Parts: sequence; C-alpha cells; structure tokens
Amino acid sequence: MSISKVYEWTIFNLMAPQCPLCTLPAQPDSGLCPGCAADLPALLRPGQTLCRCGLPLPGAPPPAGTLPPLCGRCLHRPPPFERVVTPLAYAFPLDRLILGHKQQRRPALERAFLWLWRQQLPLHGAQRPDLLVPVPLHWRRLWWRGFNPAAQLARTASLALDIPMQPVLARHRATPSQQGLSAAARRRNLAAALRVTHDIRGRHIALIDDVVTTGSTARMASQVLRDQGAARVEVWALARTLPPD
Ligand SMILES: [Zn+2]
Ligand SMILES: [Zn+2]
Repeated sequence: MSISKVYEWTIFNLMAPQCPLCTLPAQPDSGLCPGCAADLPALLRPGQTLCRCGLPLPGAPPPAGTLPPLCGRCLHRPPPFERVVTPLAYAFPLDRLILGHKQQRRPALERAFLWLWRQQLPLHGAQRPDLLVPVPLHWRRLWWRGFNPAAQLARTASLALDIPMQPVLARHRATPSQQGLSAAARRRNLAAALRVTHDIRGRHIALIDDVVTTGSTARMASQVLRDQGAARVEVWALARTLPPD
C-alpha cells in the first residue's frame, strides 16, 4: 500500500468514534454500537438460503462446495455473475442511512458496511477478486448528487482490503427513462449505455453498488464485463431490495 493510501486509511480510521445510527460509542471493528449492529435488517431468515441473485429462497443452505439453488427468475435467465454478496435487506433503518449516504459521504457508515461485507466474503486465494469496479453514474447525476456512492464504497473497500479499484465501466450517455418499457427494451437500453474503458480480460471482478434493487443493472453491467473478457464477476452491494411478500 502506498504512503498516501496509508495516510488516507489512517484518517478514515480516526473518523468514526460514534455509531452513525444512534451516536453511542461505536465498536472499533464494526463502527456501530452493539445494539444497532444487532438491529440491522438481515437478508436471510431462519430456514432460508440465498439464490445466486441474492434473493432469499425457502430451504436449507446447500452443502459446502455445491452451487446455491436458483429462484424462478434465475432458472429462466441465469445471471451472468457468480453471486451477489449483500449482507442486509434494504429496509429501515438501513434505507435511511443509504439514502443519506447518497447525498453525503459518511466514513462511519462505510466502516460499518465494510465490516458487514468482510463477514461474508471469502477473501483468500482464488476466491479473492483482483479488481473492484464501481457501477457508474452518468456525469449529470454525478453533478447533481456531488459524488458516486458506489465509487466511494469501492474506494474505501479497496483501501481496506488492499484490492485495486478501477472505474472501468463508463456510461456513454444518460440512460433514457426505463419507465413504460418492456424488460427486453430496458436491457437493450442499459447495455447500449455502458462501455468498458480498460483491458479486463481474465480478471476476477467484484462489481460494487450501494443497493441491488431489481438486479437489472447488476446483470447488465456484469454481462458487459463478461463480454469484454472478465473471467469471473461477482456483485457486492450493501443491501438487497426484497420483493413484497
Ligand atoms: Zn448505535
Ligand atoms: Zn435468483
């Protein structure tokens, strides 16, 4: 790690004395107080297992070394990524925090997110991605929001995990409104809007986003990366939107 990165990482570590949910003193590892860490909305309930797309399914987890089961949508159209790593459901109070993080960078929150990711990620050997790639925002939205939360998360994860981050996905143009379009038209829309700016052949990529909502963006971005030669793609997000019961 370079000296400037060590400096940035040290500053980041000094900036989280309080739990970002309640302002009580935070634990040094999680960046949250123990009560809030226990209250976060878990994605999995007892008796459930995760599909490769990150949605919970009924059933026990598969034995180690075997592939996870697929939900109906993934059976119909297998995802181009290996798995979605999302520790939490997009629900209260996490949704408020993520919305707040879209407006303004929150180092204390990023620390908590990294702690959650770390508990789920096998980061050793062949399981370790060699490149982190944020989902891009179009520049007009970048200007409006001030920053890309996915890029900031990828940058923080890069510092913490010592995996390089490179924004190799770029948008050609503002993605036209997706409203009222068929699923196929939405996919064409998104695919045409994304391009890859660097040679990624043979790379094992973790695509970083803050929230996976329908999974369409993650699928499309992963497909574009695979089409350009990425050997493996997985998706890391803070939270997964659950379909209504
Ligand atoms: Zn708290
Ligand atoms: Zn699925």
